[in-house]
Amino acid sequence: MNHATLKKWNSCPGELNIPQKDVSGMKRLHIYDFDNTLYKSPSPNRILYSNRAIRNLLTNDVMTTGGWYDQPCFLEESFKMCVADTQQLFWNEQMLSLTSLSYRDPETISIVLTGRKQEPFSSLMEKMLTVTRKLAVASEDNDSLYNKWSKDSNFLKFNAVCLKKRISRQASNLPTFQYKSSLIADFIRNYPNLEEITVYDDRLQHIKQFKSFFHQMRPRPRFQWFVIPVPQLSINLDPVAEYSLVHRVIQECNERRSTNQQLLEIKWTPKCTGFFLTMESQRIILKQAFRLTKLSNFKKINNISEYPMYVPICEPGQSISLNTIAQMYVNHENAATSLEFLNKFYNQRNPEHRKNVEFIVTHYVSKPIPTSRERDRVGLVYFKVIPKDRSTKIITTFEAGASLVIIGHLTEKPPDQYIHYNFDDDYMRENGMAWTPLKNTVTIDTTFGNYSKMKF
Ligand SMILES: [Mg+2]
Repeated sequence: MNHATLKKWNSCPGELNIPQKDVSGMKRLHIYDFDNTLYKSPSPNRILYSNRAIRNLLTNDVMTTGGWYDQPCFLEESFKMCVADTQQLFWNEQMLSLTSLSYRDPETISIVLTGRKQEPFSSLMEKMLTVTRKLAVASEDNDSLYNKWSKDSNFLKFNAVCLKKRISRQASNLPTFQYKSSLIADFIRNYPNLEEITVYDDRLQHIKQFKSFFHQMRPRPRFQWFVIPVPQLSINLDPVAEYSLVHRVIQECNERRSTNQQLLEIKWTPKCTGFFLTMESQRIILKQAFRLTKLSNFKKINNISEYPMYVPICEPGQSISLNTIAQMYVNHENAATSLEFLNKFYNQRNPEHRKNVEFIVTHYVSKPIPTSRERDRVGLVYFKVIPKDRSTKIITTFEAGASLVIIGHLTEKPPDQYIHYNFDDDYMRENGMAWTPLKNTVTIDTTFGNYSKMKF
């Protein structure tokens, strides 16, 4: 039997590389997970979806033709970006160096092992590996990030690339960990002199499972195993491209639905307008909120549970005149609503068009939401902000003198009766609420704009 096990599990014919040594000469098995370990696979862009839509997109319960990781189009789109931009590495640099060492060693079998299904993904996977190797070779004459591997003949090569095959007589595919462990067991059975297995993976759940799997098996006296957790790396697709792909996937899902299945439809949450916190500023606020949750004994804070947080200038779904927006965007009373301005305001993906405003977070107030069970204490925490530069023009639809606050909640079904936007003195008094100064004020950075999230 000559490496029949390798041939049996391999999914990409062009990526099968039979080792020079025969079966009895192979001492080590190195296993590289694909998604977010070897390749920075795209994950859904959180800014585009409501929390429920993300859950729906990731599972097959609603997307009956397959969720995010079953559809090749998202991975394919990311690879288009990868080829177009060689100044950004879409692969995990450290893993690339390790795979090259693994492949070079004549006594090591190195494989890619992924839970992606063979049928929809094998040709894409083969293309990604082949094209990336070509990028490295071509980089000899340019300054792309692949340059350091331009002369490495072991670059991104493996003995086999193993995707999840449908096991005969099985109605559906095996769960990924079960599939991976049965492959490993088969290699141990058929390579009698294997004495070391190393697994690289990013999923903590799988790391734990691999460890207990190896703990329980003692195939031979000198057997060693290593399970190496790899920090998860991922990228986001261009939001416009991602939207059109999701739209297409949903359409296909509708076309193939059975008669008792509901038609899926992309809708939008009510449009929010205001100052949107940067990722870093959101982290600062969450840290503050976490401290307050402990103080107020809340299990959950309802009004800052979604990304992104923002400082609203009107209630969700309410619109504000373009003239007003123009005045705030250019920070001047006499700003005219020109086509050029509108173009800039609605194209803030271009960093040059962004209107950044810094705020100082000065006070907070917390309020429990009435629930029937004390142990489920749910609450609201509002942070009061003032513009760092006092001359910043901010116009809101709220009562005169109302405080500006931070909200991190995009209503799926407006109105959410407990979340409030208009914090004038009357409201505070009537509700027995008083602002408490923060011990240390913090500064946050925001972008002025508006948007809504997809829901389905
Ligand atoms: Mg992974």
